[in-house]
Amino acid sequence: MPAYDYRCNKCDSVKEHTHLMSENPEIKCTECEEVMERMISANAGGFIFKGGTTAINDREKRQRKKKSEKLRVKQKERYADSPQIQPNIAGVRTDSWRDAQRMAKEAGMNHESYTPYVEKEKEKKIAV
Ligand SMILES: [Zn+2]
Repeated sequence: MPAYDYRCNKCDSVKEHTHLMSENPEIKCTECEEVMERMISANAGGFIFKGGTTAINDREKRQRKKKSEKLRVKQKERYADSPQIQPNIAGVRTDSWRDAQRMAKEAGMNHESYTPYVEKEKEKKIAV
């Protein structure tokens, strides 16, 4: 005979009862005499239900994984198309954007345009 878990809605106490699947007895809570509810997920009949849910979850997980893999490839491609801009001043590589800005300032060039890169560089350094 399958065992069923019954839960009391009032005091949350759980009790196991063994009876035929076709039976639907009224189980009363021993604590507060409330009629207890059969817990679907914990009983033998619920096994099928549980199994079904797991199967769906697995399929969903697989689909989600596929999706995220696709997205990762897409992102990779995008990054490949636009490689990170390296610090430079008029195309000449510098060690950092800070240097580039300083040199631009010294050369009397528009150094303001370097500010976003310098800021980004600062953020990166803090993050690392
Ligand atoms: Zn109760």
